[in-house]
Amino acid sequence: MSPALPAPGRALVVGLGRSGRASALLLAAQGWQVVGVDRLQVDDTELQAVGIEVRSPWDEPVESDLVVRSPGVPREAPPLAAAYAAGTPVWSEIELASRVLPNRLMGITGTNGKTTTTELLAHILRSGGLEAVACGNQGMPVTGLVGQVDAAAWLVVECSSFQLEDVPSFRPRAAVLLNVTPDHLDRYDDLAAYAAAKRNLFAHQQPGDLAIMPQGEASPGAAPARRVVASGVPGDDAVAWAQDGLHVSGLGRIAGWDEIPLRGTHNRQNVMAAAAMAAHAGLTAPAIAAGLASFAGVPHRLEVVGVAGGVTYVNDSKATNPAAAIAALDAYPDRVILIAGGSSKGTPFDDLAEAARGVVDTAHLIGETAPQLAAALGDCGVTSVSHRNLQSAVSAASAGARPGDVVLLSPACASFDQFRSYEHRGDVFRECARECGAR
Ligand code: ADP
Repeated sequence: MSPALPAPGRALVVGLGRSGRASALLLAAQGWQVVGVDRLQVDDTELQAVGIEVRSPWDEPVESDLVVRSPGVPREAPPLAAAYAAGTPVWSEIELASRVLPNRLMGITGTNGKTTTTELLAHILRSGGLEAVACGNQGMPVTGLVGQVDAAAWLVVECSSFQLEDVPSFRPRAAVLLNVTPDHLDRYDDLAAYAAAKRNLFAHQQPGDLAIMPQGEASPGAAPARRVVASGVPGDDAVAWAQDGLHVSGLGRIAGWDEIPLRGTHNRQNVMAAAAMAAHAGLTAPAIAAGLASFAGVPHRLEVVGVAGGVTYVNDSKATNPAAAIAALDAYPDRVILIAGGSSKGTPFDDLAEAARGVVDTAHLIGETAPQLAAALGDCGVTSVSHRNLQSAVSAASAGARPGDVVLLSPACASFDQFRSYEHRGDVFRECARECGAR
């Protein structure tokens, strides 16, 4: 178990979104004197009701013994910069939770595949008869689980790089770094800084813990690095591999790939990691196979919305970076009418354009990045048309599709220029697909 929470003192919670609010409420319940700050005015009724002082904006310094930061707040924000400069301990919300909850944790990070793997693993564990809760970056703050879950339950924590920036003792019994590709370059100096944050997940593991890391990378913690091997001969350090089906070290062959509904080679990586982690929790091969077979997938990730006139409509709105959209094209290699574009995170589109060559018949582009995408696609000989909104892009895609085609929303960009969230964007796509007759 992590070191306990220090004796109550003054705590500053920076950022009052979902996880910041949950942290503030938890600290107040533990007897801390809590000030919560945010850049913007927030609804403070629930917080003030339990004696939490709320301040916005956050320019005024606040003295404190502990700072808990929300993942959305960058290190340079004035209250965090001041805390680092003063040497005040700064914890991520997941660190705070791990100090209070007695539960065993599993941690999942990576640029893509986190939510799929997190939900899949929690599903496998539950279907195998263990208690398990998916939480963290997928939307359920881990601090919100205090008092809500049985101490025996496994907590399967999805961790973003931001949540892994300040974790001085967070220890997952099993952890995976799925992949690292360019993303969030608006928040990090470079890819190395982004990858370094993700590696913190392993820093406090013990020798018997499971650390699944990309090929060639050593773990920064005490657990030896193990691998999931998607193709080729598995080495001694392989914990799961893909040869005539899914194999997990120590358990043998778990299932054939055709018995596992998650589509695409990228999902094999997610499946291998989840299966190995479920084995680490003690599940048998048949239990893992049953969990994999009954997993329905996660909305907005290669979600088949319906079929109309032989055309399949696929909602992959959660593809908010180029690598995710490349994985989607790999899962649908025949003829795709692609809908892409949105707000920019500073990532280049050359690799996506290369993957689109010969697969994408026409790309219908929306949002801020449409001109940049059009240029990259044009260089690879892919025709594109820009649209003022998603509705018009879906109508045009549908009009140009032939039976057997896939109309794929896989934007490769964030959604905030035209939508409240990727879920909102996916919901609008689903509605438009239904209007085109998709059932
Ligand atoms: P995250 O939580 O890391 O954003 P999700 O499971 O929500 O990951 O998936 C986000 C997007 O990435 C989806 O478009 C999904 O199809 C794609 N994806 C999922 N797993 C992988 C992977 N291992 N490699 C590349 N892309 C992936």
